[in-house]
Amino acid sequence: MNADDLPALREELLAHGLWANKRLGQHFLLDMNITRRIVRAAGGLTGQTVVEIGPGPGGLTRALLEAGARVVAIEKDERFLPLLEPLVAWSGERLRVVHADALAVDHASLAGAGAQIVSNLPYNVGTELLVRWLKAGAWRGAMTLMFQKEVAQRIVAKPGSEAYGRLAVLAQARCHARQEFTVPARAFTPPPKVNSAVVRLIDRADAYPHLDALERVTAAAFGQRRKMLRSALKALTPSADVLLHAANIEPTARAEEIDQAGFRRLAEAWRAMTSA
Ligand code: SAM
Repeated sequence: MNADDLPALREELLAHGLWANKRLGQHFLLDMNITRRIVRAAGGLTGQTVVEIGPGPGGLTRALLEAGARVVAIEKDERFLPLLEPLVAWSGERLRVVHADALAVDHASLAGAGAQIVSNLPYNVGTELLVRWLKAGAWRGAMTLMFQKEVAQRIVAKPGSEAYGRLAVLAQARCHARQEFTVPARAFTPPPKVNSAVVRLIDRADAYPHLDALERVTAAAFGQRRKMLRSALKALTPSADVLLHAANIEPTARAEEIDQAGFRRLAEAWRAMTSA
């Protein structure tokens, strides 16, 4: 099957009198070269279940179906349902469209085991969804996600860089994260103010399980990132020095110098301290 046999996306939008709603972060990819590139970055999808958040007019959905995936597409804006409905029959029933707010539905029960997530995410809820998926159970497989470029950089950042912070530590505690390619703002309709980038996240064998503890520790550590940790971590506990000693971290170090292993030790020390 070839998505080029379908009516062009731009014509579909015009025919249905649809325009982008900024409040829902709607910036569409109408160029199938780009949506197919995202799908290639996700690897072989034949027979795989893929959750897509925000299919909109369906450019990425078409590319996913063309690649042989089973797609569960969750869209909040009901105006797009008539554009997506014909894709159900075209794909031989491999598409299920769910009209819902992605923040309000249970992705695990919609997806089934081992589902990948591939999405051009709405900017306003992208990081919130990512953190939820990082905490998700075994149902979730690899993720291939489009973010604003600045957010993508924060996900893949390494210690010592400006972009390194809470998001990098949380994402890399669970996944190997790699920026695949950037997409210029002009590739979207309408163009957003910033460029975008696709990030691929694959679960690591030594994933750290206690993301809630890591969230608490990183929130305090990066909450005042210019301060030494012995001061910054006072937001978490008056015994910041004891915590740092237990984690074998210099009290004068700053959050951006601490690597993944260091934050894991801090989270473990925090867990030991709070359960005592
Ligand atoms: N996938 C399409 C594409 O690449 O052209 C559209 C991407 S657009 C950046 C984001 C899409 O997410 C829009 O269709 C928007 O209506 C939808 N959306 C925004 N917030 C949502 C939410 N909370 N739950 C589900 N869909 C949402």
